[in-house]
Amino acid sequence: MILRCLALLTLAAAAFAQAPVSGRRVHRLLIHNATVVDGNGTPASGPKDILVVDNMIADVIALDPVSLGRSGGRGATPAPDAVIDATGKYVLPGLINAHAHLQEERGGKPQPIEYELDIWLSCGITTVRDVGSDTKRALELRRQSAEGQIAAPRIFVYPMFGRPRDAQAAVARVREIKQMGADGIKILGIDRDTMQAMESEAHAMGLRIAHHAGVEETNAWDDIRFGTTSIEHWYGIPDAAIETGVQNFPSSYNYNNETDRFRYAGHLWREANPERLTKVLEGMVGGNVAWVPTLDIYEASRDLQRAQTQPWFADYLHPTLEEYFRPNPAFHGSYFIGWTSSDETFWKENYRLWMAALRQFDRLGGLIGMGDDAGFIYQMYGFGLIRGMELHQEAGFHPLRIIQQATGNNAKILGQENRLGRVRAGWAADLIVVNGNPLEDLKVLYPTGVDEIRDGKTVHTGGVEWTIKDGIPYHAPELMARVKEIVAQARGKR
Ligand SMILES: [Zn+2]
Repeated sequence: MILRCLALLTLAAAAFAQAPVSGRRVHRLLIHNATVVDGNGTPASGPKDILVVDNMIADVIALDPVSLGRSGGRGATPAPDAVIDATGKYVLPGLINAHAHLQEERGGKPQPIEYELDIWLSCGITTVRDVGSDTKRALELRRQSAEGQIAAPRIFVYPMFGRPRDAQAAVARVREIKQMGADGIKILGIDRDTMQAMESEAHAMGLRIAHHAGVEETNAWDDIRFGTTSIEHWYGIPDAAIETGVQNFPSSYNYNNETDRFRYAGHLWREANPERLTKVLEGMVGGNVAWVPTLDIYEASRDLQRAQTQPWFADYLHPTLEEYFRPNPAFHGSYFIGWTSSDETFWKENYRLWMAALRQFDRLGGLIGMGDDAGFIYQMYGFGLIRGMELHQEAGFHPLRIIQQATGNNAKILGQENRLGRVRAGWAADLIVVNGNPLEDLKVLYPTGVDEIRDGKTVHTGGVEWTIKDGIPYHAPELMARVKEIVAQARGKR
């Protein structure tokens, strides 16, 4: 009887305290009666109360009858300053976007940073790894976010490395990046000697390395040998498994023609020898090289029409981004003039082989993360990450595994696994309250929500309701209203 009374006390506290104000942190925030999916791949459990004190998860309290019996029915006392009623809702760790770009312009035209930051938060993203932008500005935004001055996810800055001319210049560049206070380095298109020199210096300086391999001198074997933290996208992996060492390009192929490049990238996985590929994947596991595949960002190549008609474009696509997406050989990733059904068919096969390789990598014990690389090729910030989660489901991963990839695994890639990516006491208060069950339908994570039939009537539901970053609760519908306004105003000016 006493147990039940104490449990009721928690409920009473929940009933009296008010919902939080968006953007304002309170001392004690209670998320009441939630079903929790943690970031470590374990099953959903609940109901639970999650007590946030300032910017930390202070306690996760199980409210089911068995747990109450065991714990003596302790509730959240003293009473919280604000309560989010999560009855019928799911609470997850904040999503981490491990491949992001801070963008304040597209094609040389300005785009307000709030547009991108607000959408990220509305999609439940509480951390981004920025792998290439204006570094000085990114470091400034990182500070403002950490100090709670702007509504933004946590930012980890991995500046673009560039292409130093020799090993000595590579070492100097690593030191320069360390000096700036960056969290890691992004390499893209690099020669073997400078890669070896930069990786060895980066390890000494404690900087992590994200590698976007192009079709280059280096491939996944170099990442394995030199100790790259994560391979971005997928280039470099099938390349390392081609029998002859070089892809069967037609004689007219020009790498700097993006239509050529993306067209024949669609033939790459079929040229990888499966036995060699297994060795490459085993090598990555052995060398602790993680994989951030960014499945969403190539999807237009296999289904251009789908990419061009995404429903959220209607209200939320900024005209600057819209213009940047339009096929235009002058913009990166806008290579679709003359894109054919044959190209799409090759890319559909490419995806099947790529997805199978991802599953194999997972089975072998490889670490898979997730990022959206949005702002290119018809992918909108945040929406792209959720689409990526859907594609991981298509690849064959269980939703619990997918949530782990987007939270706990990404935290590990960042070296933040003791602080981020979990719903656990002592971890940072980065949490999302989801209006619906993402294990049943990942689409409930989209800010635009989903429709359901209830008692014969169509009900609009879904969406992340609250994104709590560093203990600050953001009401996602309010943020999306702001995004809609930014877009409407920008459109009005044209
Ligand atoms: Zn990128």
